[in-house]
Amino acid sequence: MQYTVLANKWRPQIFKEVIGQEYIVQLLINSINLKKIHHAWLFTGIRGIGKTTLARILAKSLSCLKSITTLPCRICNNCISIEQGKFLDFIELDAASRTKIEDIKIVLESIHYTPIIGRFKIYLIDEIHMLSKHSFNALLKTLEEPPKHVKFILATTELEKLPYTIRSRCLQLHLQPIHEKKIYKFLKKILKKEKIDIESKAIELLSQNSSGSIRDAINMTELVIASEMHKKITYEKVTQILGICHSKHIIKFVKYILTKDLQKIFKLLDFLENLSISLEEILIKIIQLFHYIALLQVTLSNQSKSLKKSLYSIKKIYNFAKITSFEKIQKYYTILINGRKNLKYAPNIRIGLEILFLQIYHEI
Ligand SMILES: [Zn+2]
Repeated sequence: MQYTVLANKWRPQIFKEVIGQEYIVQLLINSINLKKIHHAWLFTGIRGIGKTTLARILAKSLSCLKSITTLPCRICNNCISIEQGKFLDFIELDAASRTKIEDIKIVLESIHYTPIIGRFKIYLIDEIHMLSKHSFNALLKTLEEPPKHVKFILATTELEKLPYTIRSRCLQLHLQPIHEKKIYKFLKKILKKEKIDIESKAIELLSQNSSGSIRDAINMTELVIASEMHKKITYEKVTQILGICHSKHIIKFVKYILTKDLQKIFKLLDFLENLSISLEEILIKIIQLFHYIALLQVTLSNQSKSLKKSLYSIKKIYNFAKITSFEKIQKYYTILINGRKNLKYAPNIRIGLEILFLQIYHEI
């Protein structure tokens, strides 16, 4: 049997399955229900949050043989062909690989022909910001007076690179990064269906490190599964495979900072640098842990939302909170935050970090 990558296997096929993007999905559903279908949509937002997925569902909704519908049937020839990427009236272009004026010209010349089997000729142009200036001009003319049977769905990760003239002719929909919790829920569901044995903490770590991109989350998960064939996937393993700093090391850093043990700090830095773990990531996590300590010092409760979702043992954070004064935590936090800002001016990140730890060492 042919292997299908998880991201494709679990790609949402109807609006109801889309993760996050509730407002956008509702807007699309309303437009279809009211038959107010704009001739050009522009989906914007970071990679892997559902732009292409939504475009394909929209194409199916507009082309399903049943009717123009918010719930395409997925069994008619048109729906099936779109899902297989073979529908002649749904033309997908990746502007990142087709930026020459000649290419886009050929595509745009074909728009005057009526659809072959669909209701509309639908063009999905991905990474639209990559088009050349001439191509933009050619596209602009078409967007100004599009034939009735043509629909454009444009997508971009870099809206600011798109000429205003193009933007203003489209219905702009800005997709948001997906909340960690939703990514966690989705990963948990698919891993259960795939019968993968994995610790909850490992799924949490994958969700936290996906920066709101569902595709990144799935791809990372796939990588972890491939590395851990037939074995239980643990939090520890995920940190190793993805080069993420384990929470136990961050706890150690904070312990050494508070006890001013410079030697151990530098030794731990060496160790983690050898594992190719990003030093900036370490600094961010240390700052985060200081935030948790301060929170506990003030609220004296572990009910805070951010504390609950942290991967640290509350008991350990509580111990730090007890033995250190609030003023000290604030002072160190400020040094670390300012240090992070100035990290780009240091000859390299390691030097920047070392100076930061030295600064803290000399604080009273
Ligand atoms: Zn259909």
